[in-house]
Amino acid sequence: MSLIRKSAAELGALLATGEVSAVEVTQAHLDRVAEIDGKVHAFLHVATESALAQARAIDERRAKGERLGPLAGVPIAHKDVFTTSDMPTTAGSKILQDWRPPYDATVTRRLREAGLVILGKTNLDEFAMGSSTENSAYGVTRNPWDLTRVPGGSSGGSSAAVAAYAAPLSTGTDTGGSIRQPAAVTGIVGMKPTYGGSSRYGVIAFASSLDTPGPFARNVLDAALLHEAFSGHDPMDSTSIDAPVPGVVEAARRADIAGLRVGVVREFDSEGFQPGVVARFHETVELLESLGAKVVELSCPSFTTALPAYYLIAPSECSSNLARFDAMRYGLRVGDDGERSAEEVMAMTRAAGFGPEVKRRIMLGTYALSSGYYDAYYGQAQKVRTLIARDFEAAFHQVDVLISPTTPTTAFPIGERVDDPMAMYLADLCTIPANLTGNAAISIPCGLADEDGLPVGLQIMAPVLGDDRCYRVGAALEAALESRWGGPLLSKAPAL
Ligand code: GLN
Repeated sequence: MSLIRKSAAELGALLATGEVSAVEVTQAHLDRVAEIDGKVHAFLHVATESALAQARAIDERRAKGERLGPLAGVPIAHKDVFTTSDMPTTAGSKILQDWRPPYDATVTRRLREAGLVILGKTNLDEFAMGSSTENSAYGVTRNPWDLTRVPGGSSGGSSAAVAAYAAPLSTGTDTGGSIRQPAAVTGIVGMKPTYGGSSRYGVIAFASSLDTPGPFARNVLDAALLHEAFSGHDPMDSTSIDAPVPGVVEAARRADIAGLRVGVVREFDSEGFQPGVVARFHETVELLESLGAKVVELSCPSFTTALPAYYLIAPSECSSNLARFDAMRYGLRVGDDGERSAEEVMAMTRAAGFGPEVKRRIMLGTYALSSGYYDAYYGQAQKVRTLIARDFEAAFHQVDVLISPTTPTTAFPIGERVDDPMAMYLADLCTIPANLTGNAAISIPCGLADEDGLPVGLQIMAPVLGDDRCYRVGAALEAALESRWGGPLLSKAPAL
């Protein structure tokens, strides 16, 4: 099997025994990027020289007999919302064009410390706002299953890179679903850790009470290995949880679900869901039962109010976070002719530098936070958040995990929803509750929809700091599904 088809764990093992070098593995993936990225456009920046230099350094350390981690020498694609001191960081926005951050995000630093080789930076919706990657200022990314469809978003470059075998691993951030939704529609695994379980330091902020870095991979064990490599307490992030990282790798290896209590969220299985998504979901529920899980239907009524609450809270936080792009400190500056006032330059820069979705959110958020409206909108949304937390809490008294489809539909055609924000927002119907409460949740592939032959994702939600449960259940299901399919779902994707 060619190197690009191997999992991160397999590559790690081959590298450890010296059967292949990190330079060979890196070169194979850089060649793949060169081969496919003209069609897919997963990358905004390919770091050929620095990737090969990193790989060489790993090979040298290994030659000296140094003991390295399980992912040392394995390539990774990095979402362009994490700061990187040696590569541009744009957050998909014109306003950060050519910006070179002076420091590494904690996640970036930990990737380097684990010996992962960063191939480059991946495309995203501007400031991670979107569900299709069409909101990037640098062009759309295409779904490797069907180049006329979106790869999901906002981390669509990262999902497409992994699904197209350009990297075995990638990073994402999930504020409302931006890891799980793109994973679902490209047929790969994506995990949103417990909020505060992975560091936000150096992640360009969208909505600070929601933003959560997490891994993408082609299988559950690989996602767990990456999760473990970059997670854990960080004193540089004031909301980072000072607790040990849940035993995610062990859980992915254990992969057993006998006796597990599974709750099916009744609210996420009805109107507006594509028939092929519902069919695969129901089959997966039956499979869980046949594997020895005890499945019960549960009602979480507040989950239906998560979407509107999110679209008040996330824009409110974004309107405040994005105030820092004032033309003085970073990137773009427009109209600075020595005559205009600083305010005029700021206004001109923000008008030219932000795209329509970002402007829409800044306006929504500013309105929701304005005096006189604050209690009616933002305050109300925060109350909804509490109700959702209570629903989760009540559910987890009865069951160990909750499941739902990850998304109501499969990958939609490029252009279909870009002028219809409400339709776009619906893509995150099922993923948002776990963001509003900080719960852990994973998406794994669970089959292809009959209508269009495109991947369907299953979401597994767990309590706060119960990340290991997502991996335990995800890995057990993955094994059962793959034996049914005769291999990974992604092997059914048409050749690029
Ligand atoms: N699609 C959602 C939004 O547009 C979620 C984005 C995200 O998780 N970063 O806000």
